[in-house]
Formats: sequence, C-alpha cells, structure tokens
Amino acid sequence: STDKKDDTGSKRQQYGYRRHLWPQNQMYSYNGQWAYCSVCTSAGYNRKPCERKSEQRGAEPMSKKGILAIISGFSGAGKGTVVNRLLEKESYAVSISATTRKPRTGEVDGQNYFFRTKDEFEKMIANEQLIEYAEYVGHYYGTPKDYVFKKLDEGFDVILEIEMQGALKVKEKFPETALIFITPPSADELKKRLVGRGTETAEQIEKRMSRAVDECPYMNQYDYIVVNDDLDECVDEIHRLLQSIHNAKENQQELINMITEDLKKYK
Ligand code: 5GP
Repeated sequence: STDKKDDTGSKRQQYGYRRHLWPQNQMYSYNGQWAYCSVCTSAGYNRKPCERKSEQRGAEPMSKKGILAIISGFSGAGKGTVVNRLLEKESYAVSISATTRKPRTGEVDGQNYFFRTKDEFEKMIANEQLIEYAEYVGHYYGTPKDYVFKKLDEGFDVILEIEMQGALKVKEKFPETALIFITPPSADELKKRLVGRGTETAEQIEKRMSRAVDECPYMNQYDYIVVNDDLDECVDEIHRLLQSIHNAKENQQELINMITEDLKKYK
C-alpha cells in the first residue's frame, strides 16, 4: 500500500491492506487479494462506509470490529488534548459523556459533554442507558451506551476518556478493552498544568491534586502507561499502541482463517 496517512509502519501496510469501513462493517478479500475501494483510498481515511464494495462480485465478507480503548489519567495530564490530536490523525470515534457538572467557558453541549441535571442523569442510570458512570469531585459522569456499540460495530476504534472507577467497570464487563493511563512526567508538572489551564479555582486544584494522590494505586490496573511529556510523542505512542492491538491474534482470527484457506491451494 502507498497510503500516506498510515504512518504507523504497521504490518497492515506491508500486507498492502488497511481497515476499511465497508457496509455492515466488513472487509473483503477479492480474487485472493485484499480488495480496495478506490473511493476510500483516494479520499484517505474516510469516515463514510464504502458503498461500491457490494457491486464487486466474488468478494468474501470478513467482519472487523473496532477496538474499545479507555484513556484515563490524573486531571491535568492532558488527556483531552491527546484525544483531540488522535482524532485529527485517524478516524477514531470518541464517546461523548454525560455529566452533571456545569460547562466550562467554551464548552458546548453535545460536543464536549451532554450537560444534564442530576434528575436527568439519574433517569439515564435507571433506564440503563449508560455503560458505566462514576461520581467525580461531586458530579456524575457517565458513558452513553448506544453510540459506543454502534461505532464499534461500524469498525471504528472507540476511545473513552473517563476516570478510573468507570474504566475498571468497563474492563470488568468487557475484558478486551484496552486501558491506557496517561501520566505527566512529575507531580510539579501536573500542578503547573492545572494552574496554567486556568479553568479551576485554587481550591479545586488542591482537590484534584489530592485526588491524583489517591488515584496512584489504580495505575497498576491499567494495561498500558504512557508519559505525556512531549505531546506529539505521546499521541504517536498511543496511536501505535492501538494499531498494534489490531495485530493481536484475538483480533486477527479472520486473517488467520483467510490465509489458512488460501494456502490450501498449494497443498
Ligand atoms: P472534567 O470535569 O475535567 O471534564 O472531567 C473530570 C474527570 O471525569 C476526568 O478524569 C474525565 O476523564 C472523567 N470523565 C469524563 N467523562 C466520564 C464518563 O463518562 N465516565 C467516567 N467514569 N468518567 C468520566
């Protein structure tokens, strides 16, 4: 493949194929080759499912589900920035959480969060509309179910940027979830970032620093720990990490079966 956007150097490039969002979340091998869609290829990583694929005869469907990944870290570790950069890089899908906290300046309902009252949030809990929820510094935060499952089925890697209690609940329900923890290089750097952000009062910053101390033991329950010192490096590392999870044997059963079948003609 000569796809310029895939700079991960992954196996996917060497094999000459990449994940496409075919209808019904399917990839195809075609005449023993991985099939490309010229529309998708020329448009780079394109969020639209490929419509042309079904016209090709002889195509064998292969399902390819997205990976569920959770990014957590101390408040001020730069999770939000990292996630936004990942979004620019590739077509990840990021879940938008519901919360009862008030919007910060510049935050938009339905974009940063679904801002809800306590009553509304409790209704969502009662109606089982959330995959998980947690209380964090006096407010509820939760992940709406529908969007996450829809996007995974469509083949997107879905990122949840949530705190640790919620992350562990998701891992318990869905053990294949990749838990990624972002940490700043030092405690002083964390404090500096929280102060620099200018969105919290001194008292709130103290609360968040104290919470970070309590959160330390949770790091050991994460699958991957990534330092956010240089932003670009941190984003690249997480991107490579997620791409390599696609190469794990658990996620390559279709490829294993396809190659096994294909090789039989030489026996
Ligand atoms: P903030 O108020 O700074 O936007 O978020 C506070 C914390 O809540 C962050 O650690 C953030 O990752 C976490 N958070 C955001 N959305 C959710 C969610 O849906 N569920 C859980 N458990 N935590 C969340």
